[in-house]
Formats: sequence, C-alpha cells, structure tokens
Amino acid sequence: MVAAAVDPPWDLDAWRAPARAALRAGVAPQDIDWTGDAQRGLLAGADVVALAPLRAAPAVPAAFLSLAGAVLCHRDPQRHALLYRMLWRIADGERALLERVTDPDVHRASVLAQAVRRDSHKMKAFVRFREVPGEVDAFVAWFEPDQHIVDRVAPFFARRFAGMRWAILTPYRSARWDSATLAFGPGGQRADAPGDDAQEDLWRTYYANIFNPARLNTTMMRSEMPQKYWKHLPEAQLLPGLVREAGSRVRDMAARAPEPPRRRIPVPAAPAVVADDASVDALRAAARECRRCELWQPATQTVFGEGPEDARIMIVGEQPGDAEDLSGRPFVGPAGKLFDRALAEIGIDRGRLYVTNAVKHFRFEQRGKVRLHRNPEVAHVNACGPWLAAEVARVDPQVVVCLGATAAQALLGRSFRLMAQRGTWQVLGDGRRAFATVHPSWVLRQREPGASEAGYRGFVDDLRLLLGAADAGTAAAVAATTSPSLSVRGPAPTRPARG
Ligand code: SF4
Repeated sequence: MVAAAVDPPWDLDAWRAPARAALRAGVAPQDIDWTGDAQRGLLAGADVVALAPLRAAPAVPAAFLSLAGAVLCHRDPQRHALLYRMLWRIADGERALLERVTDPDVHRASVLAQAVRRDSHKMKAFVRFREVPGEVDAFVAWFEPDQHIVDRVAPFFARRFAGMRWAILTPYRSARWDSATLAFGPGGQRADAPGDDAQEDLWRTYYANIFNPARLNTTMMRSEMPQKYWKHLPEAQLLPGLVREAGSRVRDMAARAPEPPRRRIPVPAAPAVVADDASVDALRAAARECRRCELWQPATQTVFGEGPEDARIMIVGEQPGDAEDLSGRPFVGPAGKLFDRALAEIGIDRGRLYVTNAVKHFRFEQRGKVRLHRNPEVAHVNACGPWLAAEVARVDPQVVVCLGATAAQALLGRSFRLMAQRGTWQVLGDGRRAFATVHPSWVLRQREPGASEAGYRGFVDDLRLLLGAADAGTAAAVAATTSPSLSVRGPAPTRPARG
C-alpha cells in the first residue's frame, strides 16, 4: 500500500501529481491510500510521488480532466480514489470510458460533478456583499457552500466585480480580491462579515413593492431559492409575510375593479400659454394645465422640476413614479432615496440642484390596486420636450446630468448609447456640458449576485464627475459643506423634506 496526499483536496493539480506518479509507477487503484490533505494516515505506506517511474504517463482526454476538476470540489471522501480508478481504466485502454454513462464509476462521477455545478450556481446567485463600515469601496460576503467551490467560483466574482475590493468568507476557505489580485486564505466565521447595510433596507423596500402576489409560485420559489440560502438574502426576511398575505391580496385585487388614483387634482381644460421670460414657478403653473399628450389623463398631477432657479447643476430623470405622482414632487420614491444617498456619499447637497424629469406625467398600467411603471414613448418625450427646454433655459445650469436612457436621449440625441457612453462628458447643442449615468431605479432593479452593489458603485462613480465639474465653483457650490469664501449664484435653498 502506498500513500497519496492531495492538498488542498479540491485542487486538480494537487491530485494530478500523485495520480500521475502512481500511474507511471504502475500502482493499481486498490493499492493506494488516498488522503484528502497533508495528514498521512498511521498505516500509510511510502509516498507515491517518491516511487520510481516504470513507464511514460499516457495522454488523458481533456473531458476527463474537466470532469475531475469538478468532482474534486465535492466533499465525498472517496472522490480521489474514484478518479484514479477511472484514470487507470482510461490508461488501460478504455479511452471511451466517459461515453459509457451507465458505468457505475462514470455515473458516480457525474452525480458528484452535477452537485458541484449546482452548488457553484447557487453561490453565484446568492452571495450578497455588505459594505465594510468605515472603508471606501470595500465589501465582504459570508456564504456557506455545500462543497469546496470557493476556488472554482471566485474567478467569476473577480471578473464580475473587477473594480471593487471584496472578500468572500466561508467556513473552510476565504477569497480576497484587491481589484488586481485574487488570493485565498483560511475560512472564517459569520461574525467576521458585516451585518446588514443601509442599501439592504432600500432593497427590502423595493422588493416588497415589486412583489406581485398574483405571480407567486412557492414550488418554483423553493426550487430556485432553497431555504438554506435564505440566510444570505436580505429579502428573505420579508418572504414569510409576503407569502402568507399573498392569497388575501390576490383575492382583494380580483374583487376590485380598476380604479383611478384617489388624489386626482382637478385640471383646467385649456392649454397654457407661457411667456418667454416666465419664471420657473410660472412654467410649473402652466404645466399643470398641459394636454400636449394623453399622459395627463390617468395621472394624478403634473410633476414639475424643483430646486433653485439659478442652480448650477440640473438633474434630469425619466418620468415621475408612483410616489412622485402622488406627492407632486420629483425623486421622492425609492429611486429618489437611492439618489439622495449617492449624493450624500460624494458630499453634494441635493438642495442646491434643480431636479426634474424628461416627461412630467406618470405613465403606468393599472393592475388591480397597483400602478405598474411603463416607459414613456418617444412621442411622450417629444411632446414634453418644450417644458424641459424651458426649464433648461430658465435655470441656465452649467452642467446637466441625465439619469437613464430616456433623459439622455431626450437631451443628447437618439444615437446616444447610455451603457457605452455613461460617465463621459458630452456637449449639448447650446454648448452646455452634460453627462449621463444610469437611472437609480436601474440600480434597484439589479438582481444578479452583487450586481446591486456594483451598480450602485458605478452610479456613484459617475456622479463624482460633478466634483470636478465645469469649473471649480460649480463643484464647490453644490458641496454639502460649502466654504463661505466660495460664491454661490443664488440663495441656498432650504432642503425640502423627503417623503
Ligand atoms: S407628459 Fe408632458 S406633454 Fe404630456 S401632458 Fe404631461 S406635461 Fe404635457
């Protein structure tokens, strides 16, 4: 009996070295004592790698090595012996062994590999990074995989979140990425990772709002999101309550006929005529009567821009959402709160910005009591264009920031490609500087593992362009803490309360 150690026990190269030595020395599978780490058993014989080779190592099919790479990540203590037995048989002339799917060894290896692939998929789907308190752009996730898959899956996260510094801790192994190098270390404990961060409250609020009880399928949910992974998911805390209430909510929705919003604001019939030199307040009043497209009819009210009339920076979003439609103010719903958080992070006072939308009425689809957002069409953007143009003319900002593709294309043209050109300075037709980034609701919609955090970081990075904006005064004039020596073009507005 000879001994073969594999350390670490999930590593393909660590298994290949003793397996190759054993094969060259002609050691039969039943004569090897495989140990899953560097600890040799009390009865272990000579180390297999010290044996003298008797023959050349045979070529091994690439498919076998691929299969072995997955099988080794399984915790089954017999996997090393299983793979060597298969290797021995292939070297002994069974070159088509892997095609014999009913062979007990092939079947067992396939089962183990499938379990590893499933566990890898779950890790990619359910890892949730939490921001490290007191550090910038540093995130840690805690995860408890069934198999030894950290080394196998970590490169996926390195590619996906290349610009972040992150660590994934598991009970047996950790992976760290410093935005350049991937390194592995010992395992940790759940307490080593940060708890919930502020973004998870946002995510839970958003999840509760988009949860559609009529589409609930608990069988599918359990299959796609097994309960053992719930501890990694912030939204999991909401699921029992949402599932419990789903039946009554669906019955309630079915029993109710579609109804218009309760807070309908009476709108005069005649369209407004606005003088060229009208103030923003006059524009706002005139827009309440707008009938330039059909969106006014089902909406509660016009949601016009707000902020200082002489703001140096104008923010343009897509259209009001449900919360904005009811309150009559832009960016006060979940996306607005994310926007506020991003501004606060880079030290910009929202009260010094003029914030508006490309389209001033909420476009939605009524589903029972719920109003689902619908993107405005080009016709709506064009119809509303004169209002936006009038706001830009009156406020006369030095910099315009477009949030989302609708706003970007309204101001930068239909050929503008948001994801390719975001975060880069552009010039509007009137010579004004502008740039575009994603809409904060896009960040909230990211469901891929860690994508929410990465989307948010990218959004914040784009907004940082404001800090080096058109001129130093522009950046200083919007900073949350403004030096008294820096001039601001108008009186600092009172920051409105956010809903
Ligand atoms: S969406 Fe714009 S153009 Fe259409 S009715 Fe409202 S304010 Fe007028």
